[in-house]
Order: sequence, then structure tokens, then C-alpha cells
Amino acid sequence: VSDGVAQLVSSLASIAADFHRRGWVLGTSGNFSAVVSRAPLQLVITPSGADKGALNADQFLVIDELARVVGDNLKKPSDESALHIRIAQECGAGAVMHTHSTWSTMLSGLLFDDGGLRIEGYEMLKGLEGVTTHEHSEWLPILDNSQDMASLADRVSVTLKQHPGAHGFLLRRHGLYTWGASVSQAKRHVEILEFLLETVGRTRLTRSIQ
Ligand SMILES: [Zn+2]
Repeated sequence: VSDGVAQLVSSLASIAADFHRRGWVLGTSGNFSAVVSRAPLQLVITPSGADKGALNADQFLVIDELARVVGDNLKKPSDESALHIRIAQECGAGAVMHTHSTWSTMLSGLLFDDGGLRIEGYEMLKGLEGVTTHEHSEWLPILDNSQDMASLADRVSVTLKQHPGAHGFLLRRHGLYTWGASVSQAKRHVEILEFLLETVGRTRLTRSIQ
């Protein structure tokens, strides 16, 4: 394992543990990856079924663009590897992060029929790369959930082409995907989008009981 990969793994493991403590990746849910090389495309990614609160460096896997494990590692990569690969290809992302928070799960179910969720007018939007004003309008597409990862990956590609400025998307009653040029940028996007989802959700709830 090169120093570069070891550094990525160390960063992803500590971020995963932090997100686990915040309740965003409970019970082995969620997954995290970073691009190791572009040509050929290789990603380092969390394994399937691992506790994100207690990841060890040797649990991470390197996969190629077809989600095949590189090297003689017998562990299985995340079931959602195909989505990480597609996002790395379509957005040029350097890191991809996926969480299963309460608010992303609730809002993606509640608003699925709208096709997405519009978030605008919030100061915290400026935490998204390239956004310089609270007047920004962010459209977070919602895709139907599926266990067929090949077809879901194709729908992710179509969605990312339709919304080239998107910073993330939701899977229905499942969770959030976001990404960034670097691990730190992707982490920031998770924090910003999870904050905004919780804010939008709590605001709707507060309005409904007033
Ligand atoms: Zn998931």
C-alpha cells in the first residue's frame, strides 16, 4: 500500500467514525471512497457490511472501474461500489460519500413524487463548492431506490448529466450521495447537505404543528 493510499484510508476511516457518532451511518450503513488513480480508474472503498464506527485500514479495498477488487484481497467491496465509480467518472470526483441519516431518509420518501428537493436562501449553501451567495438554489434530485446496482448506476449517470451543477442526490427512503474534488471537500459537502436536510425537515415539521 502506497503512502498516498494509506493517507486516504486513514482520512476516510476517521471521517466514517465521526459520521457514525453523529448517527449518519448507523448499523454498517453508508460507504466511502476516494480515487487512487484516474487512468486506469481505481478507487479505495469501504468493504461491504463493516461497522463504520470502527473501521481498520486493512478493511479497505482497492477496486477498478468494473468494481473488481485489485490484488489478492478476499473481502467484498461495498454493494454500492458501482455508484461510486459512476460518480467518479461523471463528476470527476476525487472522493464520494454516502450516508443514511434520518432526515435524508424521511425527506427522500416524502418528496419523491416531486423528483427532487429544492434548497434555497440558506447561508449554509455557501459551504457547497462554487456557491458564493445564500441566494443560490440547489436542486437535490431524488432517484427511486433499487437493489439492481447496474440499472441504478445507469440512472445515476442520466441524472448527473441532467443536473451537471448538482452537489449530491438522494435515493428514495435510503440516503444521500455527495462528492468532492478531495476527501475534505466531500466531507464538507456531507456536513452542509445533512445540515440543510435537517433544517428543511425540521422547518416543515414546525410549520405543520403551528
Ligand atoms: Zn446505502
